[in-house]
Amino acid sequence: MKPDLASLCVRKLDLPAANPSQQLPLFLSSSFAFETVEASIDVFEGKSSGYVYGRYGNPTIDAVADRIGALEAFDLEEEVQAYLTSSGMSAIHVLLLAVLPRGGKVLTQSNLYGGTTELLLKVMSGLGIEPVFADLGDLTKAEDLLRNDPGISAMYLETPSNPTLDCVDIRSLAQLATKHGCKVLIDNTFSTPFLQRPLSLGADFVIHSTTKFLNGHGTGIAGAIIGKDRTFMKEKVFPVLKLTGATCNPFDAWMVANGLRTLPLRMQRHCENAMCLASWLQEQPKVTKVNYPGLPTHTTHAIAREQMADFGGMMSFEVAGGRASALRVMNALRVASIAPTLGDVDTLVLHPCTSSHLRVDPRIREEQGITEGLVRVSVGVEDIGTLRADFDQALQGL
Ligand code: PLP
Repeated sequence: MKPDLASLCVRKLDLPAANPSQQLPLFLSSSFAFETVEASIDVFEGKSSGYVYGRYGNPTIDAVADRIGALEAFDLEEEVQAYLTSSGMSAIHVLLLAVLPRGGKVLTQSNLYGGTTELLLKVMSGLGIEPVFADLGDLTKAEDLLRNDPGISAMYLETPSNPTLDCVDIRSLAQLATKHGCKVLIDNTFSTPFLQRPLSLGADFVIHSTTKFLNGHGTGIAGAIIGKDRTFMKEKVFPVLKLTGATCNPFDAWMVANGLRTLPLRMQRHCENAMCLASWLQEQPKVTKVNYPGLPTHTTHAIAREQMADFGGMMSFEVAGGRASALRVMNALRVASIAPTLGDVDTLVLHPCTSSHLRVDPRIREEQGITEGLVRVSVGVEDIGTLRADFDQALQGL
């Protein structure tokens, strides 16, 4: 039957059968059509596989999730299950909700990304999930807590941590956690699976803010959850993700796919540049401290050397003169930009006390070395000579 003009406008466009596209196709569709109602019933009832509705899954999103899962599981025999989420924060939120029972406790560190600390204290606490903060660099203390508090059923780690780059020993903590029936969740955003693969060190779950190094170009917000126990992921994590609507959007997933293709190249350059910049900063008279896990002087250098393939692109440094000096140096930078994100190809600086960690209790900030004079640097892939010259001229102004 020949369609009328309005119907012709409305009718969906189909591509003619063609060779597959060289790049990942981007499916911008909120639902998927069926030839018959019976075929749709089979998919809804789980008798056959297929896509139904964009919030439940989408071929672009799933392809990217599977690739991140394969990277995190690179050293494992078994396959893992991975999902993309709308942001790094939703990945953390969904996973905590799926793993922890009401009344459950999560053992964690005080030096986390500020948003994670806030999520634990302001949102999860309201849902009956209690964070227990401890120095997880102290393994004896960690074991005492696990032994004496059976309410602790999850351990949440961020290593290296934001913004002081402290590392905790994933393998030892995972061994302790497993002994006490506790699941281990790790934020691997700073390292990426190119530098550190927590699942092979004994962790149960990994989360990412793919907004950062995995995307690499600052073009989207998304997150990922990767889990070893595929049944748990499908039966517990996926329903929370689907029902809270924390699904990633296809375009952001597609941007991550694009970023992943240059991840090894970018990470190698980020690491080289960060090592050079950190070593140089350490020599500067107005710099009182440099936090970079690649420096032998960093308190957790030995742990980083053991569990990371290289030391990453993130660092922070403290200038003499507190907040005023830190802000002056940041304002004077010409190549590096002031931007509250990390992991992009260009160098970015941030003042943790007044941005990422603004709402963290000042007492905790001070305790964790997040001082008023601290500047965080996400070292980009520019020419290192240019970068060094930029920081040099900015420090000269102090
Ligand atoms: N984890 C870390 C280590 C982060 O630095 C951030 C954000 O800066 C997040 C998680 C949250 O990610 P998103 O902003 O994608 O929600």
